[in-house]
Amino acid sequence: MANPLTDLSKLCVHTITTKPWKIDQSAEEFGKAGIGGISVWRDTLEGRDIAKTGDMIRANGLEIVSLVRGGFFPSIDAVKRKESMADNMLAIDEAEALGSPMVVLVCGAEPRISLEKSRDQIRDGIEAILPYAENAGVKLAIEPLHPMYADTRSGINTMEQANDVAEFFRSDYVGVAVDVYHLWWDPRLEKEIYRCGENDNLFAFHICDWISPTVDMLNDRGLMGDGCIDIKQIRGWVEKAGFDGFNEVEIFSNKHWAEDQGEFLDKIKYAYLNHS
Ligand code: ZN
Repeated sequence: MANPLTDLSKLCVHTITTKPWKIDQSAEEFGKAGIGGISVWRDTLEGRDIAKTGDMIRANGLEIVSLVRGGFFPSIDAVKRKESMADNMLAIDEAEALGSPMVVLVCGAEPRISLEKSRDQIRDGIEAILPYAENAGVKLAIEPLHPMYADTRSGINTMEQANDVAEFFRSDYVGVAVDVYHLWWDPRLEKEIYRCGENDNLFAFHICDWISPTVDMLNDRGLMGDGCIDIKQIRGWVEKAGFDGFNEVEIFSNKHWAEDQGEFLDKIKYAYLNHS
């Protein structure tokens, strides 16, 4: 049996976490570090042959866990809503070419309409692209975002709301990505994680930490153990709910991006093994 204190086979790192590295270097360094998986952000694929990039990643011994990200469905402008659906189909094409089984959806919100209307448009958007995703064999993971992003980034802010949308579709191709950064504060989190598992909708698990005080609403996420989230507890709930996939480290941090990324990756490994 693998030693849990050294086993990195279920560790996945998002390319955004080591943003200064190009995707070749991320794949090479993650592979050399013994990390099992990678989640690829779409910006890293710009100008590249996507299928070949997928082969390059796998040649480094990594499993591609997800493509990040699609979504951003709501708008007061019907043309923009159509454009968003087209972009989501493109994301599905990219995932298929890359060999990624899943696209993560940051669902979006439109500050000029109510959150209820934004959620209606999110549901309509997913409904429109779902047949395309099913046909490509690419799953869609709805990621609820912290309510501080409810104005523009997501009208889906709790596990309960994400579960409601996922259960509306009753499709093997629509589920939920649980990110501790967005959800740790929710008193209903444990119950809603179990509900998600019971409905086979628990698709992904993202980890990092909430730094206190947070100095930047977007780019001040912390390494596991540096903040106030009880990551082990939430991971315990997710595993109790039946999840046995990757633990995906997704850190946006001006502070860590300014460091030597090799040293940062060592810190990620240590934090993963000791604080998650
Ligand atoms: Zn996330």
